[in-house]
Amino acid sequence: MPNFYRKPFGPGWALAGDAGLHKDPCLALGICDALRDVEWLASAIADGLSGVRPMQAALAAYELRRNEASSRDYDDNITMARFTPFRPEVLGLRAAVRNQPQQATAFTKAVQSREPSAGHGGSGVYCTVAFRICHASPSRLRLKIHSRF
Ligand SMILES: Cc1cc2nc3c(=O)[nH]c(=O)nc-3n(C[C@H](O)[C@H](O)[C@H](O)COP(=O)(O)OP(=O)(O)OC[C@H]3O[C@@H](n4cnc5c(N)ncnc54)[C@H](O)[C@@H]3O)c2cc1C
Repeated sequence: MPNFYRKPFGPGWALAGDAGLHKDPCLALGICDALRDVEWLASAIADGLSGVRPMQAALAAYELRRNEASSRDYDDNITMARFTPFRPEVLGLRAAVRNQPQQATAFTKAVQSREPSAGHGGSGVYCTVAFRICHASPSRLRLKIHSRF
């Protein structure tokens, strides 16, 4: 599916959600992003209407905020949407944690960079290995590994 950013405002109009930032749905980001955009856009419009700052500046700040918040997910999403087959090492890693619910959960969360994985005995090994071999989300994983291990 098409992936694109549009400039989300102009004279008398503004865009939120898919209209302004469309992504392949493979990482299921679109609904949260749309709700986030609506909140930030409403806040920017309120700033403009109430004179906190000029409308143009408020909407430009909204665009910047949206772009900064979404860029990493956007790149990761495109990588995932290519559906490149997993490497054998990744499949091996997944097989290794298959029957270990705690480790499988820690591994999945580490790959998705959603939660600290330290404290789940041994998960650091998986994260480190995953960092080396997993191509799904390298930028995020690197951040997590460096901050945790
Ligand atoms: C197959 C698929 C699966 C997905 N799965 C997920 C998922 O699991 N999780 C997730 O977060 N996201 C998922 N998404 C993405 C998600 O659906 C969208 O990101 C989200 O709906 C965007 O919301 P929106 O309000 O910006 O746009 P939309 O939901 O597309 O709403 C826009 C509305 O505007 C209407 N409209 C268009 N043109 C006009 C017009 N000229 N006048 C009046 N009305 C108009 C449309 O009919 C539509 O009702 C999926 C998308 C697809 C295609």
